[in-house]
Amino acid sequence: MKKRKLIKGVICLSLVGVSAFGLNQMMKKQTDVTGKFLENMVVSAVEPDNETLAKQDYTVLVDAEHPLQRDFVPDNLVTVSYTEEKLTEVAAKQMTAMIRDLEKEGYTILPLSGYRSYDRQQTLFDRKVFELMQADKSLTKEKAEKKAIEFVELPGTSEHQTGLAMDVALRDDETDPPMEETPEGKWLIDNVYRYGFIVRYPDTGDAKKDVSYEPWHLRYVGTELAEKLQKSGVRLEEYKANILS
Ligand code: ZN
Repeated sequence: MKKRKLIKGVICLSLVGVSAFGLNQMMKKQTDVTGKFLENMVVSAVEPDNETLAKQDYTVLVDAEHPLQRDFVPDNLVTVSYTEEKLTEVAAKQMTAMIRDLEKEGYTILPLSGYRSYDRQQTLFDRKVFELMQADKSLTKEKAEKKAIEFVELPGTSEHQTGLAMDVALRDDETDPPMEETPEGKWLIDNVYRYGFIVRYPDTGDAKKDVSYEPWHLRYVGTELAEKLQKSGVRLEEYKANILS
């Protein structure tokens, strides 16, 4: 059971389980306020109190249309407390602070999967292709690769390569409840922004109902932007599209 969870956590099914994340409500206000919000938004992409860490753009958008190069490695990766997983320094500190505050509330979460190199993502992707071909011998490699994208992000397109994303899960929970129905999940939805994180991903409307459990994919964007996105319901994609256009 635990092993199954860990495997799922590592893969991070970004296209799956969006409704299970309970994001619909979070995004509800978005249509009304997007224009006004973006018009008034002035956000610095850096944390003001640290010169070194300020060099990193925490708001970077990484997806199929904005892939990272194979050799991109964040230069300030550190281990997140309570785990072997790594994030960039500010994100790691904030994640640790959040876990401690959760513990004060009597909750525990497990950071499952943080920074992943391009090659690591490639391995996960190749493994999924192999699994699909094993399960269905009629699948060509090309078809299996297309299908695998539904489950595992292509190398270069994962936010995990930025060192700013962490998948978290309930610790030692054998019942696999949808996380938004748990006290921990509700706490995260309401509070991650205070630590500079946002809950990913936006609702694509094609969530798979057969996945009963999903780890949460939390993305660090800095406290200033996280708060604005949280309060407005504007997605990172919309924010970036607006400032880039
Ligand atoms: Zn993830």
